[in-house]
Amino acid sequence: MNPASEPDRLPPPVPAPGYGPVLLKDRPIVGISACCAGCAVRYNGKSLDVLKALGREKMDFIWQPVCPECMAGLGVPRDPVHVVGESGAAVWTGAAEVKGRGGRKVGPQMMEGCRACLDALRRSGTRAFVYMDGSPSCGVYRTTLKDRKRGHPPGVFGSLLFDEGYFLVPAADLQSPVRWWDWKRRLLAFLWLADAPLSTRAELYGVWHRLKFLAQELDDPWARSTGRQLAAISVHPGTPEWDREVRTFRTEMMDRLRRPSRPPRILNSFRKHYGYLRKRTGRPVPQVLPPEEARSWTRLVQEMGALERAAAAEGLLFGASPVLYLGRRRISPEAPEPDPTPSDIPLPEIGGSDDA
Ligand code: SF4
Repeated sequence: MNPASEPDRLPPPVPAPGYGPVLLKDRPIVGISACCAGCAVRYNGKSLDVLKALGREKMDFIWQPVCPECMAGLGVPRDPVHVVGESGAAVWTGAAEVKGRGGRKVGPQMMEGCRACLDALRRSGTRAFVYMDGSPSCGVYRTTLKDRKRGHPPGVFGSLLFDEGYFLVPAADLQSPVRWWDWKRRLLAFLWLADAPLSTRAELYGVWHRLKFLAQELDDPWARSTGRQLAAISVHPGTPEWDREVRTFRTEMMDRLRRPSRPPRILNSFRKHYGYLRKRTGRPVPQVLPPEEARSWTRLVQEMGALERAAAAEGLLFGASPVLYLGRRRISPEAPEPDPTPSDIPLPEIGGSDDA
């Protein structure tokens, strides 16, 4: 059949029977500012260990620590450095400088150190990075500027990762169970989508069906418009026009996945998807309170985990977390509860990096 004679109107991207959750078998690899992973590489010889808050879940990822200031040859301990100029991005164009105490210029070394770290991240296959915000090197949305202490532009390494299209997670958000849950589900979806084949209509619609609920939660107007565009797509697979369309879709969807959700949307999503799951299975999930009952964010995250496992065990899509990592036999009705979290956070506020 001549492709040109195919009708332009194609079936909308409704789910084909059998679309279930995506279960990643390979442990995701994530870069991290070394000082956040317990390496004592800060200028004052100190460190943080933000991964401790993840408990056993820490082992569900391969962590690749890097420290651009160490790779610049600045040593530990060292004088703190700051960006003199508009931003760390301007250091790369020569419009800003990095200086230590006493005005010692270290911009060229810093750029070498950043490039060495990026090479290591590429070799390990990372597409995501947990960054120390506020650092003149690793900061992404805040950095240390001379005379202004903290501004909004990225640091020298942060700007490089930003330009490289990394999925960037602020280290502080690993301390909050609900923020981390939100980052993790979007991170897994991002990593899957980055490589998901989109050569046929079935592949495109399969990807959209799995991600559209999350897209609706993150950016409903965009999701609605994209759903309509995909339903009406008239270009043919294998053509340059098709490649252009799917490239745009992939890029825009990955950009949406970088954006944190908000508390009311997470709650709505929980209620909606739990309702769907109950309808499909005909029974409640024992670990989950009735949706209208008050609960803390920490409790909600534990319930979300139970729903993810219950849906996956039934082969059903849980739209709030469409992509899961299969590691350590978590996906079964008998799978253990997640680690107990140390603190119970009251419901109303997530705040912080929602706009990151
Ligand atoms: S913020 Fe980045 S450059 Fe600074 S100590 Fe941590 S890893 Fe090194």
